[in-house]
Amino acid sequence: MKFSKRIEQVNPSMTLAIDAKAKELKAKGEDVIGFGAGEPDFDTPERIKRAGIRAIEANDTHYTPVGGTNELKDAIITKMKRDNGLVYERNEIIASCGAKHSFYNLAQALWDEGDEVIIPAPYWVSFPEMVVLAGAKPVIIETYSTNNFKITVDQIKESLTTNTRAILINTPSNPTGFAYEKSELEAITEFALQNNLLLISDEIYEWIIFDGFQHSSIASLGKEAKKNCVVINGVSKCYAMTGWRIGYIAADAEIVKKITKLQGQSTSGPCSISQAASIEALMGPHDDVIAMVREFEKRRNTMVDLLTDIPGVSCNKPNGSFYSFPDFSALYGKKDKNGNAIHGSLDFTEYLLTEKKVAIVPGIAFGSDANARMSFATSMEKIEEGVKRIKEAVKLLQ
Ligand code: PMP
Repeated sequence: MKFSKRIEQVNPSMTLAIDAKAKELKAKGEDVIGFGAGEPDFDTPERIKRAGIRAIEANDTHYTPVGGTNELKDAIITKMKRDNGLVYERNEIIASCGAKHSFYNLAQALWDEGDEVIIPAPYWVSFPEMVVLAGAKPVIIETYSTNNFKITVDQIKESLTTNTRAILINTPSNPTGFAYEKSELEAITEFALQNNLLLISDEIYEWIIFDGFQHSSIASLGKEAKKNCVVINGVSKCYAMTGWRIGYIAADAEIVKKITKLQGQSTSGPCSISQAASIEALMGPHDDVIAMVREFEKRRNTMVDLLTDIPGVSCNKPNGSFYSFPDFSALYGKKDKNGNAIHGSLDFTEYLLTEKKVAIVPGIAFGSDANARMSFATSMEKIEEGVKRIKEAVKLLQ
């Protein structure tokens, strides 16, 4: 069978693969502790589930307009005003089947062969792949733990070519857990505007922030910033709604129009029931979200404290999302009890899974081989037991 060049260029999602491997071991009765989850371990709040059930009972089960119902668009508009001080019109909003779908559509609508998109590494695994699927070139810029994995204007300057079209910022970030300060975003925005670059701002972890941190949206940094920024957001992470598949874009009307055309010839509108539930998610009381974030903050403290207590492991304390991104590279070069050397994050994560039944995601999947991603969207007991096992496994290395 001959397959398209496009599909042959795409790498399978390593995060999904690790998760599947851990689940397979668990199904075999192994006592696996998984830190691979890319989703809250909390269930969708009751008020949101009820809204979904009400939608089914009201026969809200037909096609909706391609870009989402007006009610959902209005809820998104209200959210953008309330949370980000931004004013959008309905023709500047489009809802899709998850934020992943939103970015996929955007890439298809914007770029061609030869176009370059700047993506800071560590990055969410799907960003470069979706740029490649659009025929364009992801330009990966390595960031460092000394700057909490945030890209600087000087770095962007160095990578700029006449083909650069856009800069992608994900704040708070998957996988690093760090969010950009407003002043950092202002500097990047100023540079992007001077160089006619589109800013893409993935803010899907917006509400999951710690220590009183204030989230800033690039689009809120002024009139020009808003015009040149595509905000990507969704209900998956902050409302524990990963399975409902609703994401959205807020952007210039011209961009939204093109994406709507594409969506009209591909998926059509997202699920009607999920749209109704998402309205409740965005508009209803946020006590459930705040309680979940408080719990994540406690778990982050425990996970980072326990990790940094392991000789040879370092870990900056993230200020958002539900991931920590410890550095295990000081252990590379050591050998396990069979004399096999640990060469990098793939070897190390494989070793942990085999030796101690702990599943973490190798940093190489996110473009940073020194690290691994550990999700704290799991219980405190599992965090304590899992990190204890990692400590034991590290001790066994020679
Ligand atoms: N952006 C980032 C940074 C993510 O981590 C994810 C999910 N892993 C998404 C977008 C996509 O989320 P969804 O498609 O569930 O809305």
